[in-house]
Amino acid sequence: MAQSTDLREALRVKPGTRVRLSALDPAATFGHDKAAAGPLIAKRLERLGSLQDRLRAEAKEAVLVVLQGIDAAGKDGTIQKVMEAFNPQGCTVSAFKVPTPEELSHDYLWRIHKRVPAKGEIGIFNRSHYEDVLVVRVHALVPRKVWSARYAQINAFEETLAASGTTIVKFFLSIDRDEQRKRFQARFDDPTKRWKFSARDLEERKRWDDYQAAFDDVLSKTSTSAAPWYVIPANRNWFRDLAVASILADTLAGLTPAYPAPPDLPADLVIE
Ligand code: AMP
Ligand code: MG
Repeated sequence: MAQSTDLREALRVKPGTRVRLSALDPAATFGHDKAAAGPLIAKRLERLGSLQDRLRAEAKEAVLVVLQGIDAAGKDGTIQKVMEAFNPQGCTVSAFKVPTPEELSHDYLWRIHKRVPAKGEIGIFNRSHYEDVLVVRVHALVPRKVWSARYAQINAFEETLAASGTTIVKFFLSIDRDEQRKRFQARFDDPTKRWKFSARDLEERKRWDDYQAAFDDVLSKTSTSAAPWYVIPANRNWFRDLAVASILADTLAGLTPAYPAPPDLPADLVIE
């Protein structure tokens, strides 16, 4: 059975490679099965929790997790699941919606930079600056010349964050068109989920192919060693959770966070 390290390697987009989502299987499970995945996910979340505790105590590095994916790909569900692992102190979630007039009156990275995590924190982005080369491109909200220059700008921005001690992990949740149809229908049919659904989602669904092309370009142009993309097969929620939790845990472990000693006390202190 595939181990977590294999998933990190197998799902990472190697810098400079051309990604075509149509050639990848959003239902892939890499030899894992649902029954065994439950306990495995629980183990990964426990590991994540203990790594976060050290990260927070040490306060030397920041971790930025970026989640992208088409509507109903599972961004909210992933956050709900993975956040279970974390102490809410030391973790922030930022959701990026249609920009406000104030946000639009600044450069597109302004609202993003304000939400970047500080050292010791894990910041999760539900959508991100990538919307500025996704929805903005698909709807031609700015001229091609403007959005096409952004891939290089984004790479430079992320490199700057990385150079100042921010580890960046980007997850693209990949589902297929029929899976989106099923999820939209289920959303609409469930009175507790209908609020999430809007006519706009149906309009966006008509542009499926345009979005896939925009995703292909994002994944091909902005997966760097400083800020790699992972394409997560997300048709199956359990595999999505397993893959994200495993890759995150391995990434945090790579930072080897450690509890610091209090700087102003001797190591052999005995309290009277
Ligand atoms: P949701 O994530 O379902 O709450 O929807 C948020 C909406 O905001 C999505 O339709 C995004 O495409 C949209 N959005 C996010 N960022 C931008 C942006 N920079 N420009 C235009 N629309 C955006
Ligand atoms: Mg939505």
